[in-house]
Amino acid sequence: MQKKIWQWTGLNEVTSSAAERGEPGAGEAEIRIVSIGICGTDLHIMSGHAGFGEPPLPLGHELAGVVERIGPGADGWQPGDRVCIDPLIGCGVCRECLAGNKHRCAQSGEIGLHYPGGWQEYLVVPAANLYLLPDAVGFEEATQAETLHCCLGGIDKLNIRLGSHAAVIGDGPTGLYYVQLLKAAGASKVTLFGMRDGRLELGRRLGADVTVNLRSSDTIAVTDAVASADAIAMETQDIAIDAAGNEASLKLGIKLLKRGGQLLLFGLPGHPILADIQTVVLKELTLAGSTNAPQVWPRVLELMASGGVQVKPLITQHYPFEALDQAIAFARNEPDEAIKIIVSHS
Ligand SMILES: [Zn+2]
Ligand SMILES: [Zn+2]
Repeated sequence: MQKKIWQWTGLNEVTSSAAERGEPGAGEAEIRIVSIGICGTDLHIMSGHAGFGEPPLPLGHELAGVVERIGPGADGWQPGDRVCIDPLIGCGVCRECLAGNKHRCAQSGEIGLHYPGGWQEYLVVPAANLYLLPDAVGFEEATQAETLHCCLGGIDKLNIRLGSHAAVIGDGPTGLYYVQLLKAAGASKVTLFGMRDGRLELGRRLGADVTVNLRSSDTIAVTDAVASADAIAMETQDIAIDAAGNEASLKLGIKLLKRGGQLLLFGLPGHPILADIQTVVLKELTLAGSTNAPQVWPRVLELMASGGVQVKPLITQHYPFEALDQAIAFARNEPDEAIKIIVSHS
């Protein structure tokens, strides 16, 4: 049996073809992919700068679909079950895996990054990586459980008290999710820093109390840009989340925090950057890095189903699977327009 497939085939190049469908082995299930989120990581991999993944490879790690076939021992799953897929695969036997921290496994890799991903009609995955979708969560939204689970893992690393003041730096999808999660966690005032008015406007609709466009001033002089925004008082935030991951955003995060504040490092700089450690020490800041969080998937789906986090307002474009190449081109060429592009099978 054949399936349609898109693959990353070289520098910024995707190619469609047909491939043989796999057989679900022990503990595995074959998923009919319904929706795929296009992620900045996909573009990064295709540019050849990610340092992992080798073409030809079908990418796609933000995935939702329907169980098609189940292998021996994949108990508890039925053909027709609506699911999303945790792309992370650990060795399953090391200390970290056994402790539920497969993202810290030295052997871990991700479907769609290191292993064949969901840019295809059917994908065989470990049944242990599946999560049943609540009725209230559609396939397009469900692709975002992957991004959201990373964000919720970050929130779990912070001590957020009711009435906290929090800053989010970065107006990409993760920044917009963090705004919502901070409000849901009880922050009374959330300030979103970004570079695009449209994103900041959406951030306000999603709960941000204050937004600051860093581009309206010289972005190199980040502190001056902020000082000119009357609403922002430096050295007052209980929490700052760096969802941008560059030297300026890190500098801003450290500057925004009050003494004893907490800084969550989430965005990836891609290379070493400088930090004002003197200030980190003197202000007694707590720094936490965060990536994946395998334990939080069920809570993410409950949050989505209850409306505690909204995904739909972030979905800006929809493409059919046959036009995945166009979706990728749009994401690359119109980064300000495309917040989250979803590709779906008809
Ligand atoms: Zn992603
Ligand atoms: Zn392991």
